[in-house]
Amino acid sequence: MSPEAPAPDDVPGQPEPDTKDWTWTITRRCAECGTDVSAMSPQEIAADLRASLPRWAGVLRRDHVAVRSEPTVWSPLEYAAHVRDVFKVMHYRLDLMYMEDEPTFPDWDQDATALEDDYAHQSPQVVATQLAAAGRGLADAFDAVLNRDLHRRGLRGNGAEFTIQTLARYAWHDVAHHMHDVGA
Ligand SMILES: [Zn+2]
Repeated sequence: MSPEAPAPDDVPGQPEPDTKDWTWTITRRCAECGTDVSAMSPQEIAADLRASLPRWAGVLRRDHVAVRSEPTVWSPLEYAAHVRDVFKVMHYRLDLMYMEDEPTFPDWDQDATALEDDYAHQSPQVVATQLAAAGRGLADAFDAVLNRDLHRRGLRGNGAEFTIQTLARYAWHDVAHHMHDVGA
């Protein structure tokens, strides 16, 4: 069963396609997960991100981690595999914003990646190791952001503008929201 069947708006907890504009979560509290990233610094995000890693490890040790509670909602394993890739993609986008002036990020189709990489059948142990490594890497990168670089810009393929500051906030809301999705 593919996770993309109904439109995301119809299924609370369904991962949002990266093409949808979730950038409002940068500027105000998310009513669904309760996270407010609007005033967070990259260093504050790094600390919360690191603190989330043992919780994801706990999720991946659960019995039945690969079982979906609803046919159209990702299993905790699939959410964790997605979060691992969020860490990697956001780290890459952060690197691009340092290397280039106003880069356009390569598109990332989250749902296609989930199917192509077969999130549903990945090893929870392997995902746990990869998620922890990718999360530590991104947290280190957020810790190293200098104030003078906060407003370096990058663009998503759909034109959405990010700065290093808002990319960090966007990334952290995404991860926090998925912790809410899986009850981590
Ligand atoms: Zn949220």
